[in-house]
Amino acid sequence: MTTIRKKISIILFLCSFAAIVLIMLFVNLTIKGIFKEYMADVQNKRYERIVSYLEEAYKKDGKWSEYSGIELMHEAYMSNYILTLYDERNTLVWGMNPMDIKNEINLKHMKVQDEGVYTTKKFGLEYNDEIVGYVEIGQYAPLLMTEEDVLFQTSVNKSIIASGVLTLIIITAASLYLSKQFSDPIKEVAGMSVNLSKGHFEEKASIQTDIEEIRDLRNSINILADKLNKQDMIRKRLISDINHEIRTPLNVMQNNFEAMIDGVFPVTQARLNRLNDEIIRFGKLLNNLEKLKEFETESLKLNFYAIELFGLIESLYDDFLMESEKKHISIDLIKEGDTNYFILGDSDRLKQVFINLVNNAIKFTEKNGKISINLYSKGKKIFVEVADNGIGIKTEDLPFIFERLYRGDKSRHETEGSGIGLTIVKNILTLHSGSIDVESEENNGTKFILCFNALD
Ligand code: ADP
Repeated sequence: MTTIRKKISIILFLCSFAAIVLIMLFVNLTIKGIFKEYMADVQNKRYERIVSYLEEAYKKDGKWSEYSGIELMHEAYMSNYILTLYDERNTLVWGMNPMDIKNEINLKHMKVQDEGVYTTKKFGLEYNDEIVGYVEIGQYAPLLMTEEDVLFQTSVNKSIIASGVLTLIIITAASLYLSKQFSDPIKEVAGMSVNLSKGHFEEKASIQTDIEEIRDLRNSINILADKLNKQDMIRKRLISDINHEIRTPLNVMQNNFEAMIDGVFPVTQARLNRLNDEIIRFGKLLNNLEKLKEFETESLKLNFYAIELFGLIESLYDDFLMESEKKHISIDLIKEGDTNYFILGDSDRLKQVFINLVNNAIKFTEKNGKISINLYSKGKKIFVEVADNGIGIKTEDLPFIFERLYRGDKSRHETEGSGIGLTIVKNILTLHSGSIDVESEENNGTKFILCFNALD
């Protein structure tokens, strides 16, 4: 097992190392090539200079003597090459001894390639377009280098190596820094998920980074923590809800039965009816939980057809009125324009949506209140607003009303309801690729805004 930091560092280091070695090799070879060309050029110029010097010497005297061009000998010794002069019949005029410079070379630590292999080159000397003699130039290397030349070459090599080492140091530091950029946030996210698994949902990852993927990772883990936190709250609330929903009637029944058994309360028809009502409420609660389970399973089968929404709501209107009239609540059903509002949907499930919303509106609106249902469209979207001027929802309850078994504080005093109506509404809308939003103000009313995709 290795850490991500180590792995990234090693990969970066190896890649950079290979790149630097290749660059160094390439630069070195190129410089060597250019330098060799330059030295060959210098050598050719030297040959030309020697030949023309000797031709001049011949021109001056009109013949060869053992002093012709003898001055060149000094430079030849100094520069490690051997000169031998011949006349036109190839008879020696004067010459140097190759052994004289062989020792010199070693003394001077000259860099001589193929040391010891003595090679010569012979050039013709002309006067008035006629060959009048020959000069033989011999040396112990194909290219002669002076001490400065060798120095130049080694210093170039040294600076290439130095720049390579320096680059490597910079790259090592950079790769350590870079790998830290990856490993630190990942470490933090890993630490955070361990904390999440221990139930510390309120924690937040605060990594600052400009790497998009890591920012996404941080955001998703924060969203996950938020969701888990919310779920945890819901779970706790659910437990206390169920506890409350079941314990209260259970206590009432137990106390009543005990009192009746002990003869404290007489067994009357009315008392038995009340106890029966409690048992029925109990059963309803369990039925609702069952219904919720059905909506949460993915296998739920829907029958999609083209449905005209206004017509669908209108068909429920009489039932709504029957309920609302008991509390003298008015219900207005209005649509914008003469358009038909067609969507693709399952009519039974959609009816369930509007029944739940309007029943809630009736339930949470005082006597003589007002409910309105509005249909309108914007672009390819159809909106249905179900609004009331009832008791409204507390701001702190708003984020939770669509959660299962969630009931606002005020509705807790209601006997009807178990906090699953809106959960079902939301599930049905999701299955229809729609959405639901809520706007509410305590004591002022509530508005649910449903959005559907219009059928083309
Ligand atoms: P319930 O069975 O309690 O009505 P719902 O899931 O239908 O369950 O609603 C959840 C909670 O949302 C309700 O308990 C209530 O607090 C709040 N609520 C829903 N609709 C309205 C409304 N029209 N006005 C005020 N509060 C509402």
